[in-house]
Amino acid sequence: MTAKIIDGKAFAEKLRGSIAGHVERMKTEHGITPGLAVVIVGEDPASQVYVTNKARQTAEVGMNSFKHELPANVPEAELLALVRELNADPAVHGILVQMPVPAHIDANKVIEAIDPAKDVDCFTPANVGKVQIGLPGPVSCTPLGCLMLLRDELGSLAGKNAVIIGRSNLVGKPMMQLLLRDNCTVTIAHSRTQNLADVVRQADIVVAAVGRPQMVKGDWIKPGAVVIDVGINRVPAPEKGDGKTRLVGDVDYAGAAEHAAAITPVPGGVGPMTIACLLANTITTASLINDLLPPS
Ligand code: NDP
Repeated sequence: MTAKIIDGKAFAEKLRGSIAGHVERMKTEHGITPGLAVVIVGEDPASQVYVTNKARQTAEVGMNSFKHELPANVPEAELLALVRELNADPAVHGILVQMPVPAHIDANKVIEAIDPAKDVDCFTPANVGKVQIGLPGPVSCTPLGCLMLLRDELGSLAGKNAVIIGRSNLVGKPMMQLLLRDNCTVTIAHSRTQNLADVVRQADIVVAAVGRPQMVKGDWIKPGAVVIDVGINRVPAPEKGDGKTRLVGDVDYAGAAEHAAAITPVPGGVGPMTIACLLANTITTASLINDLLPPS
C-alpha cells in the first residue's frame, strides 16, 4: 500500500480563504475588523520566523495585525503590563505571546494575565476547561488543525481507535479532548508507556507528537490507518552537503507510507494548519467578544 499524502499546505490555504470571507463579512455586516496582537520577547531566530509568518498571514486575510517586539532582558512586570494593555484594547481580539519566553519570566504568569476572551492559543485554564466540557471558545491551534485534516480524510471519526503519542498541554492533551468529542476511542501514550509499538498497532488513527525524529516505525502502523505527524525535528542532512540540515517528523515517513492509508508529510502537513487555526480562533474570539455566533 502506498499512502495518500495529506496536503496540509493546500488545506490551510483553503481555510485561510474561508477565514478571509468571514473577515470581510464581519467588516461589512458588523463594522468589526478582527485584530490579532503578537508579542515576541528576545531574538530567538525560530520564534522570529514564526511571528513574521503569523503577522503576514493575519494581514493577508484582512485582519489587523499588531506586532510587539520586546528585548530579551525586558522585566517580567513590563511584559505583564503590555498584556494588560492589550486586554483592554478594543481593537485587539486575540493575544498571542510567543513561547518560550526567556527564563527570568514566569510563562504561567504571562498566560494567566491574558484575558481568556482573547486567548487565541487556548493556553489559559479557563479555555482549556471550556474545550474539555465543550463550550464555545478558542481551541488549541495544532490539535484543531489535526482534527480538521482527520475529518477531511475520514468523514466521521466515530468509533475509531485513536492513539496519540505525547501528552503535552500544547498538543497531546487537547488532541485527546477533541478526538473524544468526535467519538473516538482514545489512548494517550507517553514516555512511560509499555510496548508502545503494540499500542500503536491497534490504532486506526495515529497522532505522533513526541519530538523524536522518526521514532514511530513503519511496521507499527496498522494497514489502512491514518497517520498525523505533528513532530518537527531538524536533523543533519549530509546528502545536501556539509553542515546542512532537513526537517523530519516523529514518524518514519517512508516506512509508514507503506502501511498507512493516508499520512501527513513533514514539512507541509500539520505545520501550515497551526497558523491557519490561530486565525480561525481569532474569528471565534472576535465573534464571541461582540456577541456574534462564531463560525462552526
Ligand atoms: P513535549 O516535549 O512537550 O512533549 C513530548 C511528549 O512526548 C511527552 O508527553 C513525552 O512523554 C512524550 N515522549 C517523549 N519520549 C517518548 C518516547 N520515547 N515514547 C513515547 N512518548 C514519548 O512536545 P510538544 O508536544 O510540545 O511537541 C511535540 C512535537 O511536535 C515536537 O517535535 C514539536 O516541535 C512539534 N510541534 C509541532 C507543531 C506544529 O505546528 N506542527 C506545534 C507544536 C509542536 P512524557 O510526558 O512522559 O515526558
